[in-house]
Amino acid sequence: MTNLTDAFLELVRLTATDLAPDAESALVAARQREAPGSAAQGALDTILENVNLARQNSTPICQDTGTPIFYIHHPQGWSTRQLSEQIRAAVAEATARAYLRPNAVNALTGKNSGNNLGGHHYPSLHFIETEEDGIIVDLLLKGGGCENVGAQYSLPNTRLGAGRDLHGVRAVMLDMVFNAQGKGCAPGVLGVAIGGDRGTSYLASKEALLRKLDDTNTDPELVKFEAQVLEDANRLKIGPMGFGGETTVLAVKVKGLYRLPASYFVSISYMCWAYRRRRMIVADDRTSYE
Ligand code: SF4
Repeated sequence: MTNLTDAFLELVRLTATDLAPDAESALVAARQREAPGSAAQGALDTILENVNLARQNSTPICQDTGTPIFYIHHPQGWSTRQLSEQIRAAVAEATARAYLRPNAVNALTGKNSGNNLGGHHYPSLHFIETEEDGIIVDLLLKGGGCENVGAQYSLPNTRLGAGRDLHGVRAVMLDMVFNAQGKGCAPGVLGVAIGGDRGTSYLASKEALLRKLDDTNTDPELVKFEAQVLEDANRLKIGPMGFGGETTVLAVKVKGLYRLPASYFVSISYMCWAYRRRRMIVADDRTSYE
C-alpha cells in the first residue's frame, strides 16, 4: 500500500495556511457589501490581510488551528489501520512544523498531548469505502469558538414556536445565529442536518460543511430554503465579528436525513470565517489538492 504520509502533511499545511478560493471569494464579496470605513469593513480588511499573510508565510490562518476532521474515501482493499497511522504521523509532523497548534487536551487531566494526537477520537477520522480506484480525502479544521456556538434543537420547541417543519427549522437556525452574536467569529457558514439521532445528526451537519460555498443543493426545496435563511440571518445585522453590518452568515448548507417518528432533531454546526476545508485527490499515482 502506498505511503501517503507526506501527501497528508501537505493537505494539513494547505488547509491550515491557505484558505480555499471559494471561502476567500465569499469574504471579498462580503467586504464589498459593507459601508466604506465601517467597523465591519475594517474587520473584513484585517481578515483578508491575515489570509494573504498566512498563505505567503505558510503560517496558520488563525491561532486556533481547530479540530482536525478527516473524511477518507478509499477503494476496497486499503488498510484503514495503515491509513490511520499515516494520517496521525502527518498530524504530529504538522504540529512539529507549527502548521497546527498543539490543541489536544485531555478532558480529565487538562494535559496537552503536545502533538495533536489523543486517544481514538483525536484527530477525528471517518473512513468510507467506495467503488472508485483513487483516494479522496477531505479535511476540515474546525475552530473551537465556532464549535462552541453550534447547537442542537429537538422540535417542537415551544419557546420559539417551532414545529416539525421547515418553518420550525428556520426558527431554530435563526435562534442559533442570534444567540451566537459575534462569538464564533462571524461571518461564518451554517452546516445543518435535519433528522437522524442526536449523534448522526451532528455528524451530518459537519458533512454539510464539505460542500463548496457557491454550490446548489440537489434538493429543489432546500435550494429556496437555504437562500431564505441566508437572507433572514443577514437581516439580523450582527455583522463581521459582531461589529454590526450586512454579512453575518456567508452560506447555509442543509442536509435532510431520515428520523424516528418520535424525534425531530435539527443540528447546526457553525464554521467561522476561517473556513479551513481542503480536498486531496490521489489518482493514477498523482496527488492534487483543491
Ligand atoms: S472561531 Fe475560528 S476564527 Fe475564531 S478563534 Fe476559533 S478558529 Fe479562529
